[in-house]
Amino acid sequence: MFVGKICRGKRMNLDNAKLALKRYFGYDQFRPLQADIIRAIFSGRDALVLMPTGGGKSVCFQIPAVTLPGTCIVVSPLISLMKDQVEGLRANGIAAAFINSAIDSREQLRVEESFYAGELHLLYVSPEKLVSGNFVSILKRGKINLFAIDEAHCISAWGHDFRPEYTQMGMLKQHFPKVPVVALTATADKLTRKDIVDQLKLEEPEIFIASFDRPNLSLEVRPGQQRLQQIEDFVRKHPKQAGIIYTLSRKATEDIADKLKQKGFKAEAYHAGLSPDRRSKIQDHFINDNLQIVCATVAFGMGIDKSNVRWVIHYNLPKNLEGYYQEIGRAGRDGAKADTLLFYSFADVSMLRDILQNGENAAQNEIQLVKLERMQQYAESLACRRRILLAYFSENLSENCGNCDICRNPPQSMDGTVIAQKALSAVYRLNEQVPMGMLIDVLRGSARREIKQLGYDTIKTYGAGRDFSQWDWQHYLMQLINLGYLEVAYDAANVLRLTSASQDVLFKNRSVELIKPTSYKERQEEEKASAKIKAPTQLKKERLRDELFEHLRQIRKEIAQKEGIPPYLIFSDATLEEMAFSKPQTEDDMLAVSGVGEKKLVQFGYRFIKAIRNYEKK
Ligand code: ADP
Ligand code: ZN
Repeated sequence: MFVGKICRGKRMNLDNAKLALKRYFGYDQFRPLQADIIRAIFSGRDALVLMPTGGGKSVCFQIPAVTLPGTCIVVSPLISLMKDQVEGLRANGIAAAFINSAIDSREQLRVEESFYAGELHLLYVSPEKLVSGNFVSILKRGKINLFAIDEAHCISAWGHDFRPEYTQMGMLKQHFPKVPVVALTATADKLTRKDIVDQLKLEEPEIFIASFDRPNLSLEVRPGQQRLQQIEDFVRKHPKQAGIIYTLSRKATEDIADKLKQKGFKAEAYHAGLSPDRRSKIQDHFINDNLQIVCATVAFGMGIDKSNVRWVIHYNLPKNLEGYYQEIGRAGRDGAKADTLLFYSFADVSMLRDILQNGENAAQNEIQLVKLERMQQYAESLACRRRILLAYFSENLSENCGNCDICRNPPQSMDGTVIAQKALSAVYRLNEQVPMGMLIDVLRGSARREIKQLGYDTIKTYGAGRDFSQWDWQHYLMQLINLGYLEVAYDAANVLRLTSASQDVLFKNRSVELIKPTSYKERQEEEKASAKIKAPTQLKKERLRDELFEHLRQIRKEIAQKEGIPPYLIFSDATLEEMAFSKPQTEDDMLAVSGVGEKKLVQFGYRFIKAIRNYEKK
């Protein structure tokens, strides 16, 4: 076997790895853990790597693949991504190919030949192919430097993406005992981790767990009021930037897409009810920057690697923080700034509770409900959201993040005793028989027929809360629930009930502190005011930079169309932003831009240099 030789070769040097990172990918530095992982692989050790989506897992096996003699075999279940990944590598001057059910046998033979001839740095293989018939004998005819098992959580029956073929991959260690195996995943709890190590028969693997923080993602939660209007404003503030809007229903995806189309945006609905043909068309348009917005049920996003998704909106509250984090994680994979927005409404919580409560498996329902509660706590949080989010994933952030709505606009408290008294007294007089919506109507003195019929207009607190909007009341009532002054009877049509603490407010004059709600309108005014603070020269500079960025984006798109690959594979948004900022005008300048490697400099660099020079002359 050949691996021992590799480990002793001078090519295993980490300096070499750094050179390769610059040469092929155009990056100057390894991200945290990348260098350690590569070092472990160089020393012939097995490794298990946990990193969030966008964390930079691929580089961990791609650098050994290009620096060690032989080929790295990458096993990945995401067949739809293989073509993209291989094209991305080739654009960087790395020899790569794939074998899966999408290619015919002639093509497969061709790929096998180049593998035998040692021409490939990386060979991507689907798990089905890997475990099929004679594939091991094919592998044995070539020279392999590393096995990379991507999406390794698929090995575990506990995981959410279980693939039976993955359980047979322990055979790799039997057939190739000296080739290191690196398993990579973005999601693996302790049980799954153990499963991965056991089933792949990893030998004393080094385990690397990266931080799951994605600091470039901004976090924001807003009350779910006038959502369509808010979305429209949001999208206007993100001109030409690709984004995804997640909803819980197919109908909502279509309604939102229609509304946005009417307003002149390029938007499409995407859900499981569409034909596969239509879905793949939408996906292609989105990937190629021809479609700005996809309104989708959760089905969208799994099979795409588009690194320049610039924002994600949740129209509805997700069921749990795992799902939420995974979905917002589809934004900003290139590391450049990306925005996320979650709409929160009590109605969503009630609806989700109903769905989850009625699942078939009682124990499972219980777990799901607890998870929903954690989701709700996040949405209602008055402290830094990122800290809460990361704490959920057992990670401790030592400081507030500065990139969430709470950090940017710390909540202001006020004396809410009278408000609480009005609300609690109404609950009392309504005999603890009404849910939140009805309570608000009574407080605001609604003239709804139902209220008259039930005689609710005769109680003393009817109309006592006219001076607040429905949204304000919702905001206050949710706080009263969180503070323990009210309880929701989930088992009795969600009616609100008093607690022992509410007695103190009603009868013992206990004071209550509440957080001021900010309406959508107020928020807009605040934003306008803060935009004005910037000096005019600063604004002009930013505008010019944005213009140049737009221009470079356009060039990128033209090149992508000609090359027949997605624009983000030419250069990432982050790379274009840096170009727009540093305005490289020579080859050396260009090579200094993060994301510009040797091959891309030769292939595309000059077009961008020319564009920047012309732009500077203007
Ligand atoms: P993952 O597979 O973990 O989702 P990727 O490997 O696709 O992540 O990497 C995400 C993005 O980060 C890619 O655009 C990649 O080129 C970039 N990237 C990876 N490593 C580095 C690095 N050391 N410096 C700068 N960018 C990097
Ligand atoms: Zn924060």
